Amino acid sequence: MEIFLGFKKYFLISTINLTLNQINPVKLFLTLIFFILFFTEMSVAQPSPIISSFQDYSKSIKTNDKNTLVDLKKSIPNVVLDLKYGTSNNFTKINLYKKVSTTYLRKDAAFALLNVNNELKSLGFSLKIFDAYRPYSVTKLMWNLVHDERYVANPTNGSGHNRGIAVDLTIIDIQTNKELNMGTGFDNFTDSAHHSFTKNLSPQIIKNRTLLKATMEKFGFKSLETEWWHYSFQSKEAYDVMDINFKKLAKKIR
Ligand SMILES: [Zn+2]
Repeated sequence: MEIFLGFKKYFLISTINLTLNQINPVKLFLTLIFFILFFTEMSVAQPSPIISSFQDYSKSIKTNDKNTLVDLKKSIPNVVLDLKYGTSNNFTKINLYKKVSTTYLRKDAAFALLNVNNELKSLGFSLKIFDAYRPYSVTKLMWNLVHDERYVANPTNGSGHNRGIAVDLTIIDIQTNKELNMGTGFDNFTDSAHHSFTKNLSPQIIKNRTLLKATMEKFGFKSLETEWWHYSFQSKEAYDVMDINFKKLAKKIR
């Protein structure tokens, strides 16, 4: 993105120069490219509305209390957070969230996830969360890197993560704190991460995936065929896409 903006700046400067100097084919070509890039970006459809200020978010809560974002660290006691996009240890190799110490879901989804964790606790397990709420601008950045709707949401519609109702997670053993073997790691963009992929997977791996899926579904989450770690809370609410960064949320949501 930075590089892209750099190019844009360059093309913009070349456009200005063009008006000052006499027309030459190279400059004309660069100017043409600039306008193509500019209008391509302008024409990308976006969901509407996008809640991008805390003021708009506060208004949305007043209209409907269900819009409230809940801090998962506080609402799910002892939940383990391993927020991959807040580190460079993710498929983009970029820390997309900068500084992040917790994550969020809308209150109904957060409460459902608490129930999932309580159920797993009774079996000696707990949840480990890789990602939940994701600012819309981060989804756009991911889309620029991976143009594949099986793995990254198309920004045209906004995603469950952008709406604060989707979560990426796994199960850990409370005794050892180790993740159960799910056959692949998080963000493994191959067929072996699919729910329907069973060949070459041990019975224990299938059992582990089934435990996660069955418990999540019991409390109202829906799985995604291509990612064993991704679940989306099913609700009749029409949650808006949000684009407020974690730094701002951490300051305001206490
Ligand atoms: Zn996800």
